[in-house]
Amino acid sequence: MTDFAATRALFHLPEGVIYLDGNSLGPVPKAAPARVTQAVQAEWGEMLITAWNKAGWMEMPARLGDRIGRLIGAPEGTVVLGDTLSIKVYQALASALEMRPGRKVILSDSGNFPTDLYMAQGLIASLGQGHELRTVAPEDVAANITEDVAVLMLTEVDYRTGRLHDMAALTAQAHAAGALTIWDLAHSAGAIPVDVTAARADFAVGCTYKYLNSGPGGPAFIYVAPDHADVRPALSGWLGHEAPFAFDPAYRPGTGIARMRVGTPPVLQMAALEAALDIWDGVDMAAIRARSIELSEAFIARVEAACPTLTLASPRDATRRGSQVSFRHPHGYAIMQALISRGVIGDFRAPDILRFGFTPLYLTPEDVTQATEILSEIMENDLWDRPEYKHRAAVT
Ligand SMILES: *Cc1c(COP(=O)(O)O)cnc(C)c1O
Repeated sequence: MTDFAATRALFHLPEGVIYLDGNSLGPVPKAAPARVTQAVQAEWGEMLITAWNKAGWMEMPARLGDRIGRLIGAPEGTVVLGDTLSIKVYQALASALEMRPGRKVILSDSGNFPTDLYMAQGLIASLGQGHELRTVAPEDVAANITEDVAVLMLTEVDYRTGRLHDMAALTAQAHAAGALTIWDLAHSAGAIPVDVTAARADFAVGCTYKYLNSGPGGPAFIYVAPDHADVRPALSGWLGHEAPFAFDPAYRPGTGIARMRVGTPPVLQMAALEAALDIWDGVDMAAIRARSIELSEAFIARVEAACPTLTLASPRDATRRGSQVSFRHPHGYAIMQALISRGVIGDFRAPDILRFGFTPLYLTPEDVTQATEILSEIMENDLWDRPEYKHRAAVT
């Protein structure tokens, strides 16, 4: 059992805010500022460069990687932190393509996050070997896993609609066709139960600043299945070398997941992540999932009853959704600004999606009720129809 009143007390949330955007940027764990301050003052401040050894900075990417591994069903020594998710997508894809030299197709879907597709496009251009990125509708992925596919690269939970792919079934199908799989867990890790081992995923990647609450710019993670531990790392940086401090001019990859490290890791950001992961240690993912479904079902029912002009953009079946709910409206942007100005924070994704994340660690059923009341008031009285709510900021 997970005590959600206790976990809520571990986060700082500003007074008067109902935060439905933990799927984009998780809030601050109350323990994070002290942990970051310790890293700055006691470690960086007092130990200076010796902290790489004395404070264990050098091992942090592997140590925290193992803690994330426990949330996604990965065995020890198969997950490492570092860089941004875009970079980790590139690394996984480059290694996977090299393992399937005779095949030229990367299969993905139109619901994938653009950066994943952009990284594939950039890699294809750099390789210059005639690879093709084939992007199909999410519901057509299974029908397009053909014998020419080298890699099936998907984000498990669609960032716009919350649509959830069947990781185990699609992976099995990809393997039967001789393809490898890369799963992006950006909207899965810390949101829903994930088991990369049971699903037999070949590679998985994800970020830590969404549901895992590491803060803006927190490092990404990469998982490589134990069977593929000897893949060639495409980004052969010195910290992925077998012996970084031998300063050997020739690259030799490190053992196992260590070879997926690239350069110097973001220590202060990892200190924040460490504080966030302490919360996850006491949490049962099945309880999180049950509560997330309860909150999102209540939200959908109330919004549909009170706001008939909002159209559900997420799957109606809760088992086919991640931990977010999206609605469409032609004035979605202005409606979201009106919500935010009243303390209900979600976000907007072009062209017309209002996105609401459900994060049981710090969100209560009362929050959900209150958020829907504020939304219905906005919709009933067209309170969104004001010029200041239509001005687009850089980040939506
Ligand atoms: C959030 C997200 C990203 C972000 O990538 P960064 O390199 O961390 O900016 C990438 N892919 C998916 C699927 C995402 O949801």
